[in-house]
Amino acid sequence: MACGICVLTGANAAVAQAPEEIWEEVEIAQGVLAFVTTEAVAPSSYANTIVFYGSEASVVVDTQDRPAAAERISHSLRDRGLPPVRWIVNTHWHADHTLGNSTLLQRWPSATLLAHPATRDSIRVGGDRHVAEQRERLLGRATRIEEAVAAGQVAEEAVPRWESVAAESRVAAEELVALRIPVPSGVVADTLRIDLGGRELLILHPGVAHTEGDLVVWDAGSGVLAAGDLLEEAPLWIEGADVRGWAQALERLAELRPREVLPSHGRVRGDARLLDAHLALLRRAAEVADGFASSAATRGAPGSEELNVESAFGELLDRLETYGVGREAVGIYAAQLVERLRGG
Ligand SMILES: [Zn+2]
Repeated sequence: MACGICVLTGANAAVAQAPEEIWEEVEIAQGVLAFVTTEAVAPSSYANTIVFYGSEASVVVDTQDRPAAAERISHSLRDRGLPPVRWIVNTHWHADHTLGNSTLLQRWPSATLLAHPATRDSIRVGGDRHVAEQRERLLGRATRIEEAVAAGQVAEEAVPRWESVAAESRVAAEELVALRIPVPSGVVADTLRIDLGGRELLILHPGVAHTEGDLVVWDAGSGVLAAGDLLEEAPLWIEGADVRGWAQALERLAELRPREVLPSHGRVRGDARLLDAHLALLRRAAEVADGFASSAATRGAPGSEELNVESAFGELLDRLETYGVGREAVGIYAAQLVERLRGG
């Protein structure tokens, strides 16, 4: 899930709204094209899209948060002369991954929209609400900017830029009026192999983690793993998540030995260190929570011990520094993980 409301905070908060300014096209490997957030925006605000293609077909993984963004992807695939899209994958139900579904299906009506059954059911039951909430987020952002400008809280030289963000947020919100998210017609409960022509991909549900129905897409040929929101260049979004399941899911992904991992929120990096860093943090959080549980059992009293994050996590607190997440922020995140695991 995105932090779409954190505009006006942080040095690299969202400063642009047009799809071309938010996502840049990056050829990760032969047959692997990604639309990845630029350095100008906070990666947690927008989700990436990745396209794999072979000689016969293409698959689009996630469809971003508005029709205009999906339109841009559609134009790019056409301009590049890529094979037709035969599959569209929703890695999970969150709105920043699904609101371009209808645009892409209009362009490729015979494509199969794939998701985990839990994601399909979330969209079927809550799709309209997901759209409405995304629209409210965009309108709220515009209102907050406009109020901040009116109250003189924005530096004079920055006013035009923020006003354009507010205006574009309203345009994006307008796009969502009457938008319906198509319900996925194909499901992947565990694994599915798809053949793009000279390129076989594995679509995999690694277990309950970020949501009940996460999917990832693995291209063994190129060694590229599209990880969805199982990875972020930020503290993981654990609201509604299964923290212990998440550690197990990342263990399963680590076994694939990916050469390159693309998180839904973050940049393209030529290694799998982000996966290793998050896995180490999740594992440690589970160990710490287990330690509390066993000492509470020994004492025969419910656990009330205080967590000392520094001594519990030590050097692991520096593991996300490469991605711009400092020790203090990781400490807060680590404490939240343990709290969740202790039933908080
Ligand atoms: Zn998400």
